Amino acid sequence: MSPKLDPYRIEKRYRVEPGSEIHLSDWDPSDTAGFDGGKEEGRRYLSGLNQQLESLQELLYAENKHKVLIVLQGMDTSGKDGVIRHVFEGVNPQGVRVASFKVPTPLELAHDYLWRVHQQTPGKGEMVIFNRSHYEDVLVVRVHSLVPEEVWSRRYDQINAFERLLAEEGTIILKFFLHISKEEQKARLQARLDDETKHWKFSLGDLKERALWPEYQKAYEDVLSKTSSEYAPWYIVPSDRKWFRNLVVGSALVERLKELQMSYPAPKDDLSQVVIED
Ligand code: ADP
Repeated sequence: MSPKLDPYRIEKRYRVEPGSEIHLSDWDPSDTAGFDGGKEEGRRYLSGLNQQLESLQELLYAENKHKVLIVLQGMDTSGKDGVIRHVFEGVNPQGVRVASFKVPTPLELAHDYLWRVHQQTPGKGEMVIFNRSHYEDVLVVRVHSLVPEEVWSRRYDQINAFERLLAEEGTIILKFFLHISKEEQKARLQARLDDETKHWKFSLGDLKERALWPEYQKAYEDVLSKTSSEYAPWYIVPSDRKWFRNLVVGSALVERLKELQMSYPAPKDDLSQVVIED
């Protein structure tokens, strides 16, 4: 019998302890924490999490106090878009926003790399999902040597300081690395090739990035080892099974939001004697 899925235990299992040295070979991308209910049961759990998230997000919006930032990173096909679609299903679009970070524009490049990122951070009551993020500036930028090592190597400390600032000013930050195996990526890319309706998602550039797999894994290991903090933890999300990937992200988020012990604000007026006339 598969164990009951316990969001609290899931959250702990995949959270990166600050200061720990991460070797991704120790983290199984197809792990399911002993939970072998499979897709069907996984979906049932996810729909429970969706409902909890919907209520928590409504509270967040109503209370208008906390700000929530969710960072999604991972290799191509790891499922960043899938997480956004499935984990946030049913959440009121008012109060939730997705910010996607692409190759920087000339204007963005004329500024420091955090400039475009800071502008997209959440305001009070808001939840923002980063589809890629400032971490690209120590991932793709490092792997392709877009800036010299002395420049990118300073960025881990800068990023920690930036995230600390956000946290001290009231932002709850959760960062998810969607960890897939190279074999699973091959299968997903092949599925895109085999299906004409998925060709729009395929770019030859993805194959060039795939060829740099070891370099990216190393760059991710450094990110995870150097930038997981109490105020902005990383989670290594086993992502070879999509249903489990969604459960991990959903569980971590719901657990964190519950800790905030939010409540609906009191009404501005005394409503106890209000009668609505016919
Ligand atoms: P996605 O793969 O996220 O669905 P795209 O296919 O448009 O969307 O890819 C966005 C590309 O932008 C990625 O290859 C990513 O590495 C790149 N990118 C993001 N941020 C930066 C950055 N700061 N410097 C260089 N490239 C970046």
